[in-house]
Formats: sequence, structure tokens, C-alpha cells
Amino acid sequence: MIFDTKEQKIYHARHMSARIVIDAHDFVRFSRSLHGNITLDKCTRLKDYLANNRGDLKYEINGILNKNDQSILQVIVKGEINLLCQRCLSEFAYALNLKSDLLLVNNEEELSYLDEDESIEGILATSDMDIIELIEEEIILSLPISPRHKEDICPEKELINSYKLEKKQPFAKLSKLKNLQ
Ligand SMILES: [Zn+2]
Repeated sequence: MIFDTKEQKIYHARHMSARIVIDAHDFVRFSRSLHGNITLDKCTRLKDYLANNRGDLKYEINGILNKNDQSILQVIVKGEINLLCQRCLSEFAYALNLKSDLLLVNNEEELSYLDEDESIEGILATSDMDIIELIEEEIILSLPISPRHKEDICPEKELINSYKLEKKQPFAKLSKLKNLQ
């Protein structure tokens, strides 16, 4: 019966609001799987990283055990987002194709212990994990620190070069002034 209640809770969450909530440990225990589409306008945190909120993403969440019988939430996200090139400040399409295996941990202490090992990504397991937030977090972690077009594609390459030259000018002028004094 508890199982039924949880299923109803998930159903309720799905249909009454944009939130999709899972119990992380149950999700793995019952080998559950969720998949669907998210429209980018629902991604409130990710919004700050995007050039616009056009497009949608396909996601899949799987509750699995790894080879050491540890509980894993597997997050798979595919799709395309638009980022702002930090060189020319115009938008460009960025393909997302990520798959993260998140090891469930039960407290902050375990989590900080895991932080020392970069090959394993841990996540604090709760009974009401928000799937959209989880997916957004994984996407944000996967993004380049300074997103850019590839050098040969970026239209503003030459402009940046001349900008660099201009930047050197004030110093040149300054040294001329010094010579005059
Ligand atoms: Zn660019």
C-alpha cells in the first residue's frame, strides 16, 4: 500500500504542477525509470546560463545498482541549448549529451568525503528529490566555464584582435606623455 501511495504522489506531482518528485532510495530499490521532455522555460536555474529558452530536452532517470551494489541515480540528458559566446557575444547552439551516474549518499559527511574523489559524483538522497532541479544541476555542472564558438567559426575573431591592439594603445600614449615630461 505504501508503494501505491508513493505512485499516487508521483502522479499527483506530475499532473498538478511542473514538479516531478521522487524518493531517491525507493527509486533505486524498485529499479524505477522515468523519461520525458522538459521545455527550457521550466528550467529556472539554467536560464541564467542560456542565451534564450528555446528548445527542449529529452531526459531519462534510472534507478540502478553499480557493480559494487551501490545505489545509483543515472541521469541522461540529450538535446540542444543556446549559449552566449563569450568572445563575440552572439548565441550558438550547444549540443547536450550527458550521462551521469550519481551515487546516493545519506549525509553531508559522506558527500564531502566523496568530493575528494573526482571520479565519483555523489548526491544527497532525499525522499522528495525534484527531477527538474536534478537535471538542471547536472547540465550546469557539465557546461564549459567560458562557452565559445570554435575559433574558426566565431565571427568576431578579427574584432577581438583589433580590440586587443586598442587596449594596448593607452599604455603607448602614456609612455609618450612620460617622455614629454
Ligand atoms: Zn563567437
